[in-house]
Amino acid sequence: MGDEFATAEKLLGEVGLLNSKPPVPIELVMEYLATKGLKLCYYTPHDAPRPIKEAASDVDEVLVYEGKTAFLFVNQSRAVTRQRFSIFHGVGHFLLPNHRGLNYLAQGCTAMDPLTLKPLERQADRFAAAMNMPQDPFRNHMGLLPFGMPTVENLAQIYFASIESAAIRYVDLIDKPLALICLEREYEEHGLIIPDSPLKVRYQVGNTSFPFRIKPGTVIPPESELFWACSKDEYYTEGSLNGSDLGLKPGTNLWINCLPQNHVGGVLALVSPGNDPPQFLIDPLKVI
Ligand SMILES: [Zn+2]
Repeated sequence: MGDEFATAEKLLGEVGLLNSKPPVPIELVMEYLATKGLKLCYYTPHDAPRPIKEAASDVDEVLVYEGKTAFLFVNQSRAVTRQRFSIFHGVGHFLLPNHRGLNYLAQGCTAMDPLTLKPLERQADRFAAAMNMPQDPFRNHMGLLPFGMPTVENLAQIYFASIESAAIRYVDLIDKPLALICLEREYEEHGLIIPDSPLKVRYQVGNTSFPFRIKPGTVIPPESELFWACSKDEYYTEGSLNGSDLGLKPGTNLWINCLPQNHVGGVLALVSPGNDPPQFLIDPLKVI
C-alpha cells in the first residue's frame, strides 16, 4: 500500500470516520487537523488575502506556512465537489512525507488533474480520492451496483464527488481490467464547439490490469456511432467496439460505456477488454 493510501486510512481512523456513512464529513477532518497546525481558510479570487494575492486567481488551493502553522486557502468560486477534493489534496501536501517544503505550494495547485506530470501532484490527488471516497465503503457500493457510468454518477452523488474523480476511483478499485477515457471536441475561445470538429481522446487513466494504452490526441472516426451519439445527442450509450476506433490494433474487441460530459460535445467512457460488460466487479476475498 502506498504512503498516500496508508496516510489517508490513518487519518480517517484518527478522526473516527473509517466506517462512517458517506459523504465524509470534511468539517470533522479539518477540526481535527486544526489541532495539528493546519488551518482552513476560504477565499474568492477578487478578494484574496495578502499572503496569496499573487497566486490566487487560477488555482484551486494554496498552502502557505507561517511559522509552525500551515494555512490552506481554498478557492470558494469553484464547484463544491471540487472544493472538497482540493481541500483533501492540500491535506495530502500537509501530511505526506516529502511534500513538506515543496517550493510550488505557495503558488497554488490545480487539484484532480489527470494530465499532470508532477509525481507528487498525482500522489496528492490519490490521497484526496482515498479521503473523499474511502476504499471499503466505495468497493462495497461498487459490488452492489451494476457496471457502468450511471453507477459512477450515483457514486459521485453519494460521496459528494465530481463524476470525473468518482470514475477514476471506480477504475482504480475495480478487480477487472478497466480504463476511463475522456473525449473532447474543439472549442472556440468563447466556448462554442467548432462545427464538425473531431472528437479526440484527451486522456486515458487505466488500472494496472488494463492491457492497452489509448493515446491522447487519438481522433475518433465519424462512423464510430457509439461515441458520436453520446457526444452530439447526449445519450448514455454502451456497446462493443473495434479497438481500431481508439487507435488500437484492428480486431481488438472492447466494451464501451459512455456518458455525455456536463458540457455539450464531451464524453467520459469506461473501456474494458472483450465483447461484453465486465462481471463480478469486486472480489470479496481480495485483500488490498
Ligand atoms: Zn498540489
